[in-house]
Amino acid sequence: MGKAILFSAPSGCGKTTIIKELMQYFDCFDFSISATSRKPRGEEVNGKDYYFLSHEEFLQRVKNDEFLEWEEVYQGTCYGTLKSEIDRIWNEGKVIVFDVDVNGGKNIKRYCGDDALSIFVMPPSLQVLEQRLRSRGTDSEEAIVKRLARSAEELAQAPAFDRTIVNDDLQHAVEATRNVIERVLTA
Ligand code: ADP
Ligand code: 5GP
Repeated sequence: MGKAILFSAPSGCGKTTIIKELMQYFDCFDFSISATSRKPRGEEVNGKDYYFLSHEEFLQRVKNDEFLEWEEVYQGTCYGTLKSEIDRIWNEGKVIVFDVDVNGGKNIKRYCGDDALSIFVMPPSLQVLEQRLRSRGTDSEEAIVKRLARSAEELAQAPAFDRTIVNDDLQHAVEATRNVIERVLTA
């Protein structure tokens, strides 16, 4: 088993933004591309941001036991970590970076144990989270409402993670995350 860094937080807290910055800094990182039954958003590319599957294909892969974990994160929309991603990245000797919901984060942490550092990305407030989701400009009003409805419950689960990073000023948050990761990777 290799090492892993996993990021969890409600949608809109800034996981993707922070991960993109860190990927440029740590050569040893490789991103675990999840499968999802949602449609691509904004500039997202199949096989880079996600493996975009139809709902039927997703359920077929569940039946085939291809997932380490999966969740119906929003009603009718599934997300999951493929076992093949983990094999691919660890076979290359790289550190896996996960971007998963809070339940997925807890499940992966249970699987990886001390080999994974779990990081919770906290927004400065629920109001700022809402503003960010809206200003991202990639979700319909219906999707935003679904995302916000889950967020208070998810934020309450931050203590289950190894570290919490408050994403107020982006550069501060990236630096704090980088410091935590460097300490763990060199320990
Ligand atoms: P997530 O991956 O957790 O759903 P994103 O990374 O997509 O969140 O961020 C949501 C929105 O908030 C994006 O438009 C992003 O540019 C913006 N954002 C992220 N971090 C910050 C920050 N520290 N300050 C202001 N805006 C931010
Ligand atoms: P988004 O649609 O904003 O990309 O992601 C919505 C939520 O699904 C986010 O909280 C994201 O972290 C989560 N997610 C993405 N991939 C996975 C996965 O493989 N497993 C789980 N459990 N959640 C995921």
